[in-house]
Amino acid sequence: MSDASGPITRLHTELAKLPGIGPKSAERIAHFLLAGDRKPAVLLAEALRDVVEKVRPCAECFNLTEGELCAICRDPRRDAGLICVVESPRDVGLFERSGGYRGLYHVLGGRLAPLEGLGPDRLTLTALAQRVRRGGVREVILATSPTLEGDGTALFANNLLAGSNVQVTKLARGLPTGSSLELANPQMLADALDGRRDL
Ligand SMILES: [Zn+2]
Repeated sequence: MSDASGPITRLHTELAKLPGIGPKSAERIAHFLLAGDRKPAVLLAEALRDVVEKVRPCAECFNLTEGELCAICRDPRRDAGLICVVESPRDVGLFERSGGYRGLYHVLGGRLAPLEGLGPDRLTLTALAQRVRRGGVREVILATSPTLEGDGTALFANNLLAGSNVQVTKLARGLPTGSSLELANPQMLADALDGRRDL
């Protein structure tokens, strides 16, 4: 077997850092990548290098994109007066799949977690306030996760937007509390969006 600093150990270590992958799965994946045909490993390495080099946050909404602006911000058919504030690019995908939402997004890059040292400066809250202040926005939908931290983040954003002459709403309840939006199915998300109310 390999020594502690060898390439195989390094691969195990890096794979085990991925969400949902423990040491056992990391070992299984590493074994798959190293067994026989090396093509899957080469393709994976190239794909990883590609996203690391080419994908970056959208200059407007911080969704992931290959260009300056993401496809949603570039789409003239989207309603630019409506901004749905979410925690991660993954949440954008969830709302897009739920269908029916035609506004734009703003990706915060996480949620406030004071105990973990995650303060407002680590999120894109200032950029959100600037976006709203530029005008043309009539409603901001705060779609943070239904958790204490998500609610705290929504409250912070609401205070930040106070006095900016924009309607601030939040998703209707009915989503699984204490979790991420991922656990909601597309219909639940669409309903939560339809039933949104003033914060
Ligand atoms: Zn964008």
